Amino acid sequence: MGKYSYLLHLQCPKCQKTYSAETEQHLCKCGSPLLAKYDLELLKSELERDELKNRPENLWRYHELLPVKEKSNVVSMGEGYSPLLKTPSLGRKIGVDELYIKDEGLVPTGSFKARGAAVGVSKAKELGIKQLAMPTNGNAGAAWSLYAARAGMESYILMPVDAPVVTRKETAISGAHLYLVNGLISDAGKIVASLVQEHGFYDASTLKEPYRIEGKKTMGYEIAEQFNWEVPDVILYPTGGGVGIIGIYKALKELQELGWIKEEKLPRLVAVQAENCAPIVKAWEEGKSESEFWENSTTIAFGINVPKAIGDFLVLEAMYKTDGCGVTVSEEEIQKAQKLTAEHEGLFICPEGAAVVSAAKDLKEKGWIKDGEKVVCLNTGQGIKYADSIEVDVPVLEPGSKLTI
Ligand SMILES: *Cc1c(COP(=O)(O)O)cnc(C)c1O
Ligand SMILES: [Zn+2]
Repeated sequence: MGKYSYLLHLQCPKCQKTYSAETEQHLCKCGSPLLAKYDLELLKSELERDELKNRPENLWRYHELLPVKEKSNVVSMGEGYSPLLKTPSLGRKIGVDELYIKDEGLVPTGSFKARGAAVGVSKAKELGIKQLAMPTNGNAGAAWSLYAARAGMESYILMPVDAPVVTRKETAISGAHLYLVNGLISDAGKIVASLVQEHGFYDASTLKEPYRIEGKKTMGYEIAEQFNWEVPDVILYPTGGGVGIIGIYKALKELQELGWIKEEKLPRLVAVQAENCAPIVKAWEEGKSESEFWENSTTIAFGINVPKAIGDFLVLEAMYKTDGCGVTVSEEEIQKAQKLTAEHEGLFICPEGAAVVSAAKDLKEKGWIKDGEKVVCLNTGQGIKYADSIEVDVPVLEPGSKLTI
């Protein structure tokens, strides 16, 4: 019997300094986020890839590659192993022959944020944390507050007033201490920082605790496993804080090191952002290794309204190292792609997911995606959560009317 987790320690990707994973850790002294390192050498000799086959269909099937050391600390609602759907009708419409959507709308709390919350809250529980605090654009707050409730932990959540109302309600009903901020997630972040300093709460801000990314990386494992360990050519990801894309890149590299995926070449990773909030795409276009704060950002794809991401350099590294790229999408294109996806595939995807579908169309038209390439679009959440942003014009009939069509 192998160990439940092969976690070794945390390491800074900037200055390489290592930190113990037995105690609470946040950023490196140099200001960089920390990444979890596993004993892949040992795991390779103790676990066969095919042993996964008989495990439950949730992200804990990869528990050896997750940071929770005792199974009893796992806080789960069955998250993960979301369907990877073939979408041929939409594919034909946008010119991409081999198009897939990985549908994270089916994950608990209605977005893929539950992956990060499940692993982050479980690890926080293992570390003895009782109270956590975080800024959020909505979905992360909903996920973390609900998982915290399940773990018996208190949460302090700060979100912008104009974050989707459903996420506000999800957070509130969890019993969290919820505050709205008249501003952006970056403004909420500053208030959280002072709260953390004053009260010693666990800072669960994006990449300021090292385990959310470990939950999100499981999307990468799943994509590989669902394709029977033959990775696709392109993966497109709606990029806000960028944790998901950094996580997928980390996961694929771990799989390479384990020898579980054969390909030398990793999928090209595409960061998709909204035209009015595209700091990372801009940095990529300019060949830079870090982004600059994006002033007056706005988009209906609220989850990707992040003017400056603390892990931007890691996102850019993932893009450069995989020969990926950055794409921006207009608000109008997002709404069009959302409708198109529902009409062609019956999938009511979120605006962030729709941004990615639109980007795939764009990249195919430009020839960046080639004929016959396997393309995966991440739909990061449920369209239902953003119902208010969909305008519909429906005829209303009086009782007894005769309907002529
Ligand atoms: C948070 C969020 C994103 C962005 O995720 P990152 O991993 O932080 O880049 C995308 N889509 C939705 C629906 C989100 O909630
Ligand atoms: Zn460092």
